[in-house]
Amino acid sequence: MNEVTLTKYLKEVRRVEDNGDVEYLMYPFDITVDEDLEYPSSIMVALAHLAASYKGKLPLNIDRALEFEELICEESNIQKIVEKFKSILDPKDFSEWNVWKYILTTPKPVDFQPPFSMCPRCSERVWTGDPANEEIFESYHRRENPLFCLNCGQRFKYDGGRLSYRGVADAETVKKLEKGSKDLQPTFAETDAE
Ligand SMILES: [Zn+2]
Repeated sequence: MNEVTLTKYLKEVRRVEDNGDVEYLMYPFDITVDEDLEYPSSIMVALAHLAASYKGKLPLNIDRALEFEELICEESNIQKIVEKFKSILDPKDFSEWNVWKYILTTPKPVDFQPPFSMCPRCSERVWTGDPANEEIFESYHRRENPLFCLNCGQRFKYDGGRLSYRGVADAETVKKLEKGSKDLQPTFAETDAE
């Protein structure tokens, strides 16, 4: 059991004022997942990641945001969350199918060899810390076998008990890692390629 609590932000919760003005809110919500449990933890992280990227056209009131938070904290409600919240999980097409594909995507090798690895889906670093100060190596030794990305829920592939990776980090990549990875919006397109 290795629990971590992640804070995500549901963006663009809109509140209409009495005078008709619309206010946009960032609504923080926490989810606690077990790093040692691929299922359902990776799925809960994936759902939270999609919701946190919400850029919907429909107003999402605070009650609905609270309902989302309540449901995502109860891990047994995956089906219900997908059904009820497809408009924020896939604001473009409202497609439950797209959401299921995203949260159940097959495990993939990480980009670049440990400890310089990045998530193949969201480009978040698997191990954080400054390579120049050896922090990244300390972070790596604390948890050498991560099962999934704590940012987007992508599961990682293992071959013969070893984390699979594609590509070797060159000096240029290491330099980029020192600056931190960019925060990419999730897309469903990349989950089609297997
Ligand atoms: Zn990721």
